[in-house]
Amino acid sequence: MSKYENSSGIDDIDGPQETGNPAILPFSEVIRFHGHYCAGVTLGYCASKIALQELRAGRDVDEQLIAIVENDACGIDAIQAVTGCTLGKGNLIFRDHGKHVYTFINRVTGDAVRISLKDRETDDTQKALQARVREGTASPEEREALKRLQQEKMDRMLVDPPEDYFNVKRVKVEIPEKARLFGSVKCSKCGEMVAESRARVQNGDFVCIPCFDEYTRGW
Ligand SMILES: [Zn+2]
Ligand SMILES: [Zn+2]
Repeated sequence: MSKYENSSGIDDIDGPQETGNPAILPFSEVIRFHGHYCAGVTLGYCASKIALQELRAGRDVDEQLIAIVENDACGIDAIQAVTGCTLGKGNLIFRDHGKHVYTFINRVTGDAVRISLKDRETDDTQKALQARVREGTASPEEREALKRLQQEKMDRMLVDPPEDYFNVKRVKVEIPEKARLFGSVKCSKCGEMVAESRARVQNGDFVCIPCFDEYTRGW
């Protein structure tokens, strides 16, 4: 049996856990959170499962885990739902590289794992259908056929061993510091409060980023 098929053997990480049973969130919950069933959310779900297994961790409670994600597509919602690394908590770090690469760090053990999507061949039928849909020349039947193909692929992805889809590598990374709290200052233009860490100074007064007139010399 693949080590990914059973999620019950995962060790708990330090810190409060609601149940002591860090089972993987059911996929149906992830779809509910994301809103629709798509390839991206399926990929994100599989990557999250690998991460929790590899890092021997349950869903994050208070920044024990960190996710560094290199795209901002559908899969990120699965990662937030399953691993508990969220933008709001500050342990989801977004790097705008447009790559299906995810690095997860366990702050408690210092372990880190880099999960990258393998380059998989798309079959010619699907390629041709995708091209016609992109060009807007596909018939309704062809659109349906493509949808069916994609659906089959997603369904398969959920039962196949995740390592068929991802490269998984242990890495050494510098552990980012925990999210900090900052005081606020009042923007002298709009009057709204802004975190000190994001405030700008203009003519000696604090301003928020939207009110700040960018100064540029064009280079
Ligand atoms: Zn989606
Ligand atoms: Zn302002």
